[in-house]
Amino acid sequence: MGIMICRIHGRGGFVEICSHVAKQIEQRSVPRGRRLAIMGTLFVCDDCFESLGFERFASLAELPMEELVELTDGRIEAFETAYGAIEGRRTFCSRCFAELEAQSPAASAPAAAPEDQAR
Ligand SMILES: [Zn+2]
Ligand SMILES: [Zn+2]
Repeated sequence: MGIMICRIHGRGGFVEICSHVAKQIEQRSVPRGRRLAIMGTLFVCDDCFESLGFERFASLAELPMEELVELTDGRIEAFETAYGAIEGRRTFCSRCFAELEAQSPAASAPAAAPEDQAR
């Protein structure tokens, strides 16, 4: 959770991305990966999502912040470890990110639909 200052949009929210998604953005392509909203917004590439095991934190994304901070079963600690291991993690203006996503030719797919293959 936090605020950043964007050259275009000024003060606003941000998305945290891995270096691979950052590279996609540098190449002006539509960012591809998985979104996870836990304590903020994460967007990591499929490789990072799988290798760091973010799939197991999908249930955390459904919890409100008040419940997240109350968790004592180790899931938050595990999440923080995986979060800290995101390669080249950096922040990106959430509005710039939304604009990049909006140029997607596959924009018809609902962005909020959880892809839950584990179920
Ligand atoms: Zn990555
Ligand atoms: Zn921006």
